Amino acid sequence: MKLPKSVKIIEVGPRDGFQSIKEQIPTKLKLQIIDDLIKANFKQIEITSFVHSKAIPQMSDAKEIVQTLLAKYSTNDVKFVALVPNLFGAKNAYDLGIRDVTYVISTSETHNKANVKRTPKESFFGLQELKESFPDLSINLAIATVFGCPYEGNIAIDKVKWMIEQGLKVGVDNFTLADTIGIANPKQIYNVLNELKKDYKDIDFSLHLHDTRGMGLANVVTALECGIDKFESALGGLGGCPFAPGAAGNIASEDLVNMLESMDIKTDIKLDNLLLAVKKVKEKIKPILTSHMAYVDNCKIKQTQTSRQRRSFSAS
Ligand code: ZN
Repeated sequence: MKLPKSVKIIEVGPRDGFQSIKEQIPTKLKLQIIDDLIKANFKQIEITSFVHSKAIPQMSDAKEIVQTLLAKYSTNDVKFVALVPNLFGAKNAYDLGIRDVTYVISTSETHNKANVKRTPKESFFGLQELKESFPDLSINLAIATVFGCPYEGNIAIDKVKWMIEQGLKVGVDNFTLADTIGIANPKQIYNVLNELKKDYKDIDFSLHLHDTRGMGLANVVTALECGIDKFESALGGLGGCPFAPGAAGNIASEDLVNMLESMDIKTDIKLDNLLLAVKKVKEKIKPILTSHMAYVDNCKIKQTQTSRQRRSFSAS
């Protein structure tokens, strides 16, 4: 297999994951979980989104999250990313000190309208305006529904290429290809990535996968072979898109780390620390988790207890 030696994992749970949870998560708990993620050595974390609080009430504490984290951590150590849907959101993020933003545009007009009430073309005008207003803001363009849309079905590769061309014209810094509803299969990942890599050799794409149909990690392995070495994932496999019916969780960060490390691919993430963050999510937020490692860890703890119990039994 042709595999990279190391992979960068971008944690998106505090944004993509938390936004799918209806019940308001206390800000303090969100911050504790982000602290745990930092202890687990994530160097890039999508921490919140500057959307209207009526659209996604879960993100209404964006200001407090950003202020607390920027006061506590040096941005040289951890890159804190915020999602911004428009110029207004970007200004709010910028004024608080955020310098890395994700801006989402969907290849599908219907999904883009559902998500941000604009056509993709209008979204690119918005992005242009944003870049001109804040030239020092680093922009990650997340291209949504690359591998399929809940409203429009299959997406033609030319549409994806058009999006990349527009992004290059505006001068975005990074591109993320997103399987928003977790519909991609490994063969499709192989074909799409090879086609894009052929035309855009110099772009270091990151991949954002969902595990709705259980193909998430298979898609990761295929993408590794296509030369992708940056992935976005969420602790616990949290996630879903409020404007994409049928979208379930992101690939779970702990499953991704476990798989890559067992394949001798370095992630620099401390799995034990990450599992502590997952445990907090499991016990305090109590969502349905699609993660595998979240439950393997339980077995490990039980085994340890058993051996300890056995030891104390023989001692007594
Ligand atoms: Zn996602």
